[in-house]
Amino acid sequence: LLSTQEKRESNARSYPRRLPLAIKRAEGIYVTDMDGKQYMDCLAGAGTLALGHNHTVVREAIENVMQSYLPLHTLDLTTPVKEAFIDEVFASLPPSFAEKAKIHFCGPTGADAVEAALKLVKTATGNRAILSFQGGYHGSTHGTLGISGTIGPKQKIHALVPDTHFLPYPYEYRCPFGVGKEGHGIGITYIENLLDNPEGGIVKPAGIIVEVVQGEGGSIPAPIGWLKELRRITKKRDIPLIIDEVQTGIGRTGKMFAFEHAGIEPDVLVLSKAIGGSLPLSVVVYDRCLDKWEPGTHIGTFRGNQMAMATGQATLRFVKENHLPDYAQEMGTYLAEQLNSIQKEVSSIGDVRGRGLMIGVEIINPTKQPNRIGSYPAYAELAEKIQQECLSRGLILEVGGRFGSVIRLLPPLIISKGQIDEVLQRLSEAIKSAEA
Ligand code: PMP
Repeated sequence: LLSTQEKRESNARSYPRRLPLAIKRAEGIYVTDMDGKQYMDCLAGAGTLALGHNHTVVREAIENVMQSYLPLHTLDLTTPVKEAFIDEVFASLPPSFAEKAKIHFCGPTGADAVEAALKLVKTATGNRAILSFQGGYHGSTHGTLGISGTIGPKQKIHALVPDTHFLPYPYEYRCPFGVGKEGHGIGITYIENLLDNPEGGIVKPAGIIVEVVQGEGGSIPAPIGWLKELRRITKKRDIPLIIDEVQTGIGRTGKMFAFEHAGIEPDVLVLSKAIGGSLPLSVVVYDRCLDKWEPGTHIGTFRGNQMAMATGQATLRFVKENHLPDYAQEMGTYLAEQLNSIQKEVSSIGDVRGRGLMIGVEIINPTKQPNRIGSYPAYAELAEKIQQECLSRGLILEVGGRFGSVIRLLPPLIISKGQIDEVLQRLSEAIKSAEA
């Protein structure tokens, strides 16, 4: 099967290159390949599958829509499914944000919602500069790639969004620029200085876009104090803050939305992945003061997939009713603690970090010289070898990070403690075998 597929599929594929699987069945945190081999899925659609594969509430939502003869596609006309989804989203937001928010349905991908967010703040402010962060990832369209602070995918495309400026992200292991006490580190001072001194080349920006925990950049959580400071300095200067929660949203980090850890609110919130409850959907939710764009400013045929609204609503409701953000926090803490123990038994783990069930394990080369702050060089080849060792032990996980050296764990939020122990067992064996 794979060879026929390989012959026909584009060279630009990504995941199947490292995870050469053909899947015939999926349930919970497990997927089964064509030969009947079972894998634990800690990639979970790159963080999309909050409730794992084929959860009962997701299947029921689909069946209900099918049985009701509700329309499957309406452009952006309203249906009862859409109304219910909007109500559920607003009931999930912090009330003070919900009170002033509006929602806009975007195309099926996170990237399209980021594009919308950029257009929204540019239209509202009349300004053009966008500030984003080194190592950040916001999508693979020409525009979102242009504002992503990851060099690799841009190299051959020369993706540029004019007037985009990349700021240092507080990446404690490699760039403690901005970590400082209570977030008042030099990073925030640096941003303030850039904003206040036109000779730095930035005229008042249209917005700043940030991930509360950088996902593709290597599962790097921004310190709480730094986030509070970022919010303070943007508010003071009336600069819209776009928080990209495509990966962190819907309980993943231990709160419904990751910005809640810092007690801050965005001006624009970008949501996709888990918000569609397994199916493609993305939205921007934003302060109504910014609602200055004309009808038709951000359009597209597939805005707001009806089925995804039904599965998204069911997922949101299940996440809330079952307190999955708290559970993700508890399980994430346990997972990180256990990984810290494994770190002591092996030589190639430089850092274990994350928030909730969004964990990164940075693989390093301890035989090389550490840098001035004591961190060892990234070791992408070993990370990839560990990924393969995991795969042969029936564990699927992602390798990412700006140097390709971070093992990323994004299990479904419904993972049990016993399953976490099993994941840890397989991962630790894989690391030891790859190191040998
Ligand atoms: N923003 C973030 C933070 C993401 O993690 C991603 C996808 N990994 C995107 C945007 C883009 O989403 P999509 O792949 O659906 O376009």
